[in-house]
Amino acid sequence: MRTSHNTLANRLATLATLGATLLLAASQAAAQERVVNLYSARHYQTDEALYANFTRATGIRINRVEADDAGILARLKAEGAASPADVILLVDAARLWRGEQDGLFQPLKSEVVSKRIPPALRGADAGQGPQWVGVSTRARVIVYDKTQLKAADVDSYEKLASPALKGKVCIRSGSHPYNLSLFGSVLERRGSTQTQAWLQGVAGNLARAPKGGDTDQIRAVAAGECAVAVTNTYYFARLMRSAAAADRDLVAKVGMVFPDQAGAGTHVNISGAGVARSAKNREAAVAFIEYLTSDDAQRLLADGNNEYPAVPGVRTDNPALAALGTFKAETVPIAKVGAAAAQVQQMLDRVGFK
Ligand code: FE
Repeated sequence: MRTSHNTLANRLATLATLGATLLLAASQAAAQERVVNLYSARHYQTDEALYANFTRATGIRINRVEADDAGILARLKAEGAASPADVILLVDAARLWRGEQDGLFQPLKSEVVSKRIPPALRGADAGQGPQWVGVSTRARVIVYDKTQLKAADVDSYEKLASPALKGKVCIRSGSHPYNLSLFGSVLERRGSTQTQAWLQGVAGNLARAPKGGDTDQIRAVAAGECAVAVTNTYYFARLMRSAAAADRDLVAKVGMVFPDQAGAGTHVNISGAGVARSAKNREAAVAFIEYLTSDDAQRLLADGNNEYPAVPGVRTDNPALAALGTFKAETVPIAKVGAAAAQVQQMLDRVGFK
């Protein structure tokens, strides 16, 4: 009796083990299918919560490959059709356009995304869906030395070329994507003749040869090295919210204006996402980008970098951005802004704007 009982127990144990093994194998197979390989140029703490929330809601795991924008573009090009990338997240329309030219994306077919993201914040669409879509926005604004200038002296991009600002303007490299896009927006609004003349004027007004990032330009204004500079809003907001008193003092010396409020509105750029050309997990990739347009994800994306949501009507709670106030944004489609990059670069070369 004892022996046969043991045998039965052993058999049951074996069956249980076998069952568990099969279950494990099945769940591993399922887990392997439910993955999104994300190539991201964003690295903020709130992004952790973003990915965790998506995995909790869908069971789809996010595998991240992180590099800067240039690194991601280079890696995707090198990997070609063998790339494991499913979703590509890049910063600035000029870079998204570069990726589009390199054939890195496939059209994104999603009613959810079409409903949530305004047409002006989507990449080129040949009828199959956009190549990429904006998931957060930032404005490119003008900062100035309050002891030397008034807001009215610098309340338009056009005024950056005015004779009154000779030797007073600081800006990062003209061919940095942020500037290629800003200048591309001006090109869309004003045409090539006026834009090239304007670029020549700005280049002639520089206080020093372009160097450093946007934050360096704000610091240079506060230090009196220049009287006016150009920056993305999140760099300014980051200094406003800095734990270092020195940063907050610096911002207090500097005024900020949203340019072109009386005209076409301030230039707004995006960080954007698209489905990779040879995505192996296409459905999961689309689900992830749809999730990025949800209210919760929009808040996390914006808060992570002091940006604005891309989806209209989503509210964030950012004291620095609230202090900067609301503004009129341009309506130039971001796809056109990105696509102007090559022509802008030619103009910069012609006028000697490094
Ligand atoms: Fe940046």
